[in-house]
Amino acid sequence: MIKLEKIRKAYKADNDWIPVLKDVDLEVMEKDFLAIMGPSGSGKSTLLNLIGFVDRHYLGNYNLEGEIVTSKGDADLSRLRNQRVGFVFQQFNLIETLTIEENVELPLLYDGWNYTQTKSKVQELLEKLGIGDKGKKYPKQLSGGQQQRAAIARAIINDPDFILADEPTGALDTQTSSDIMNVFKTLNEEEGVTIILVTHDPSTVEYCNRVVHMQDGVLTEEVR
Ligand code: ADP
Ligand code: MG
Repeated sequence: MIKLEKIRKAYKADNDWIPVLKDVDLEVMEKDFLAIMGPSGSGKSTLLNLIGFVDRHYLGNYNLEGEIVTSKGDADLSRLRNQRVGFVFQQFNLIETLTIEENVELPLLYDGWNYTQTKSKVQELLEKLGIGDKGKKYPKQLSGGQQQRAAIARAIINDPDFILADEPTGALDTQTSSDIMNVFKTLNEEEGVTIILVTHDPSTVEYCNRVVHMQDGVLTEEVR
């Protein structure tokens, strides 16, 4: 599904270019639940943003189901971003001035849905994620775990091909972390959603079927 070949990226600092991704090769198959582990600053988020069509300043090849992503311009990339991928972040990144329902509805509206058609789809998904009674609340009125469930709802409302989750349990306690990992696991196993998870926490890796390690911009796969 996703094929990265010899991906290189550097950031400019003063007059130097600092390499951040060094010849990264990675293949992600449909229905994979992949963990990317590695120390802070090793390039995990940089890689995730590139996979998620946020960043197009890199060298190498990115192939998505036969489409060459590398050569696409900004308009094509934002279309891919809206239709193909759902993001989940450590700090949830919900919009504080919108209700949970409105937050989850937003990707549908961007995708051209009329707001009269979205309500039942949103409610159904909130119920599936165990927060069916929270639609009218604001993010601050929910616990961390409930906010992350809402963020997951927002990420999958468009039926994306894959989810990119950047340390999604990093702000949660142990019990809530395992609840959230079980939500991902159910989506992966029962609905075949492909998930790429960046994580620090070894206990979350148990939920994944593959693990790769990032060290100073070099990616290696763990043989299990
Ligand atoms: P990780 O997610 O593994 O902690 P990042 O991908 O965020 O690592 O960062 C990798 C390296 O790239 C770090 O050294 C970081 O300081 C640097 N970096 C990240 N984003 C930028 C940026 N926008 N400009 C310059 N350097 C950056
Ligand atoms: Mg990071």
